[in-house]
Amino acid sequence: MKIVLNNANKDLVNKVIEYGGERVYECFQCGMCASGCPVASDTDHKIKRTMHQVLLGLDEQILDKKAIWLCTTCFMCLERCPQNAGPTEVVFALRRISAEKGIIPEAQIEVANNIYHLGHAVTVQKGIKLRDKVKAPPLSTAGSNKKYIDEIQKIINLTNAVKLLKIKKDWKPKGDEVIACD
Ligand code: SF4
Ligand code: SF4
Repeated sequence: MKIVLNNANKDLVNKVIEYGGERVYECFQCGMCASGCPVASDTDHKIKRTMHQVLLGLDEQILDKKAIWLCTTCFMCLERCPQNAGPTEVVFALRRISAEKGIIPEAQIEVANNIYHLGHAVTVQKGIKLRDKVKAPPLSTAGSNKKYIDEIQKIINLTNAVKLLKIKKDWKPKGDEVIACD
């Protein structure tokens, strides 16, 4: 079954389809996706509602709220969807659309810069210092060797991520204080 809303703004749904959410029209709003979503009950990210908003062409309501960035990309909604409507792919497409418009939460920019410069989504600098202090063996991580960082950057540079995720060459990590290893 395919549901098509004749009077809806089609720009958003067409872009979502172009960016990988080609089965979005199969959604018949059963809610199975949201029933298994690990963030639905505690955050503003409501995947069933997002699917509906895409079909209605409500791009500002989706993008400006930034709730799509709270999705953990666990694929539970994709597993549960009886229509194989690809809700996770729709989230990916929406994030790309959002990034192209420059709408990205600061936390995502931080994570992207952490990965690019340190090889980690969160900083481990404080943990490294603590290990030094107690004379523990050095921590071997993706960021321990410049060769690995060069490879990570080489891969990322081949994508559009540097521009879309606002990766800065002169970036300095700020997350040391949130490492819970005191
Ligand atoms: S489970 Fe599939 S069909 Fe049901 S609301 Fe979610 S995306 Fe739509
Ligand atoms: S992939 Fe995202 S939207 Fe789907 S169930 Fe997981 S967290 Fe929820």
